[in-house]
Amino acid sequence: MENVEVFNSEAKGRGLKATQDFWAGDVIFAETAYAAVVFDNLTNCVCHTCFKRQEKLQRCGQCKFAHYCDRTCQKESWVNHKHECAAVKKVGKAPNENIRLAARILWRIEREGGSLTEGCLVSVDDLQSHLENFDQEEKSGLMEDVQSFLEYWPSQSKQFGMHYVSHIFGLISCNGFTLSDQRGLQAVGVGIFPNLCLVNHDCWPNCTVIFNNGNHEAVKSMFHTQMRIELRALGKINKGEELSVSYVDFLNLSEDRKQQLKKQYYFDCTCEHCTKKIKDDLLLDVKDGEPKPSESVIKEVIQFSKDAMEKIDKARSEGAYLR
Ligand SMILES: [Zn+2]
Ligand SMILES: [Zn+2]
Ligand SMILES: [Zn+2]
Repeated sequence: MENVEVFNSEAKGRGLKATQDFWAGDVIFAETAYAAVVFDNLTNCVCHTCFKRQEKLQRCGQCKFAHYCDRTCQKESWVNHKHECAAVKKVGKAPNENIRLAARILWRIEREGGSLTEGCLVSVDDLQSHLENFDQEEKSGLMEDVQSFLEYWPSQSKQFGMHYVSHIFGLISCNGFTLSDQRGLQAVGVGIFPNLCLVNHDCWPNCTVIFNNGNHEAVKSMFHTQMRIELRALGKINKGEELSVSYVDFLNLSEDRKQQLKKQYYFDCTCEHCTKKIKDDLLLDVKDGEPKPSESVIKEVIQFSKDAMEKIDKARSEGAYLR
């Protein structure tokens, strides 16, 4: 992590800045997941280690729940799957993805402690959970999760306090990063990448995140690569400049982006594009010489686009493109 350093900005709190120059496409850092799980509806068709979608997967003989490409993926996963395997076997079925992810995080904390782990600039204890910002509905959702978690968590594992378990669920909801299959087309899982969590949002970011599933095809295991995210520069970034990614779709109008950022990440975007509403006019503009459409037509088109985006999102999570 010699390419970046943590700093404190007055407006946004913690952030990351570059400690050297970067050019478009450069990998600023790569990071393996602290913990990650496959989505509930895909546990049989996506590898639980590398998140590749495969025709044929091998099933864990113990719990019959986890699936892997091959022995390499299965072996690599054992340290993270060991307790999960026993718990799923005992309970008789796997809980939902949120509970599974929280449990994987907590087993790792049991193993290594919650403070700084190697290669991380921030500890899991220190990640934002925004519990104080939760509204009633979010709070009751959280209570349900904690309840299901307690039914799943084995008595012989370390027992954590309610507040700590809630912190884990909170950090999953505002820091969880969606993982895609090897085609990059389908959202197949969710993971926590602590260093990535330090990169602040900007609606006009200078970086983007690429998910790399890794490669286990080499005969020698030393040439295998692990699944990871890569933070890549979108253009020239100067030494000392803050690194940013966009948490939301820039094609939304600044007002819509602001709402979404507030709802999911609990902050008011003060980036240049939002404060000056840059490019909003472009998104709403018409060709020269043509009359401006009426308010109601604009509303209709925006609604249509939103519905279409929802459908695309749904297709993406279900991997169904032919409908
Ligand atoms: Zn695999
Ligand atoms: Zn198993
Ligand atoms: Zn903004």
